[in-house]
Amino acid sequence: MNGRGQQSRFDRGDDVVVMKFGGTSVEDTAAIRRLIGIVQSRLSAQVVVVVSALARVTDQLLEAGNAAAKGHLGSALATVRDIYVRHEELADSLVDGSAHRALDRELRGEFRTLESLLHSLEGSRQLDLRAQDQLLGFGECFSSRLVKEALCEAGISAAHVDARTCIVTDARHGQASPVWDATNQQVRDTLAPLLESGRVAVLGGFIASTSDGVPTTLGRGGSDFSAAIVGAALCASRVEIWTDVDGIMTTDPKLCSDARVIRKMSFDEAAELAHFGAKVLHPATLAPAVRENIPVYVLNSKRPEGEGTEIAARAGAGNVVHAITAKRKVAAVEIESERGVDSELLRAVYAVFDAHSCAVDVMAMSPGRMSLLVSSTGALPGIAADLEGVAKVRWENHKALVCLVGKNIRRQPDVASRALPAVADMDVRVMCQGASDRTISFLAEESNVEELVQRLHALFFAKPETSPDWGEVSVAFCQAGLSPAG
Ligand code: ASP
Ligand code: MG
Repeated sequence: MNGRGQQSRFDRGDDVVVMKFGGTSVEDTAAIRRLIGIVQSRLSAQVVVVVSALARVTDQLLEAGNAAAKGHLGSALATVRDIYVRHEELADSLVDGSAHRALDRELRGEFRTLESLLHSLEGSRQLDLRAQDQLLGFGECFSSRLVKEALCEAGISAAHVDARTCIVTDARHGQASPVWDATNQQVRDTLAPLLESGRVAVLGGFIASTSDGVPTTLGRGGSDFSAAIVGAALCASRVEIWTDVDGIMTTDPKLCSDARVIRKMSFDEAAELAHFGAKVLHPATLAPAVRENIPVYVLNSKRPEGEGTEIAARAGAGNVVHAITAKRKVAAVEIESERGVDSELLRAVYAVFDAHSCAVDVMAMSPGRMSLLVSSTGALPGIAADLEGVAKVRWENHKALVCLVGKNIRRQPDVASRALPAVADMDVRVMCQGASDRTISFLAEESNVEELVQRLHALFFAKPETSPDWGEVSVAFCQAGLSPAG
């Protein structure tokens, strides 16, 4: 799909690095100064910088759009005014002289366009997805222009690229998908000459356009996807996701203060972690990097010296248990049928769950009964009513699903035999029914989840020997939180 065969220049040896900075990594002057330092440290490679909107801006734009469409133009304009002031302040503190005047003109122009969009939303009284894409894209337009000028001011030769001229998508507004051939071609045609001339290319994440030039977005959180798309098109040697946590962690530090960063994991394991409730980068957004086998690093822009997490095709050898995830607010559902579980019942059950848009997590079956786990419990009364006469549906709320995730974990009998005695007193049910052999899951009472995670973590991630700087590091981890926000 990528057509690497036809490429002449961009093979691995050229060492292109794509660096994506999330919202919190560009949120204020200090953050942008850190970004500049980080980019500077990579200049031996050809560098592409992909930036999100400043933290909170996308939500504010959405809020403004909704307000305008409801007729509250005043409040919509006030929100946008706040966004404008924030960008202007950053421009003032980061850029001087004629460059500042030029940036100021650009930002003013963009904000006027944004204001007229809000006026027209007020007129039409609706915010459809097409208009929403146009609206939300402003955040990345502003941030990318600002960051480009800030880099130039710091003496780095940078060029701004409008991502809408190179990432080409279908017209599924709100969650568009790339048209790969056109995108790869455009990304290479636009970026290659810049990179070859030694410039750093800066583009907004998240935004794209159809082949007719209608603005689209790649879905919320889509800047990671942009970075992966650009990285794959250029056959980058690495994609770096700069965020505000130290990397992907062994468990949620809010549940267990001993949680620590996982140095290396595979794309499959990252997928598994995401599926079972960890807030990690979703591999769906990294699919182009996965396809082209480009390693992805999750790094903390507040502690750039940290090693972060490397996600690659194959993880290193090491711990069998890579991480422990916990998903709360799960309900355990039992479906019983006198006539037994046959394909007809399965069909009926799936159809009803589907009709209620209720996703099923894990499933077990015995002759007269099915056990399901669901994470949205609101639909269950309706589901039970729809299945009346076919099967009896009962459920228990306030459960949690705790999973040990690791490579071939199911085939390592000692994992379960170590885990079980440690949790035997906790009213835990073992669920081994998931299709993957990368998890062993436990269904527990929600109120026990902290204790359960801590015990399992102590068991499988014994604290390393006290090293001189461990104290300092573990404090940073605790503060970091799990979510690669922004
Ligand atoms: N700014 C967009 C969002 O908040 C895209 C991103 O940050 O990845 O969803
Ligand atoms: Mg994000």
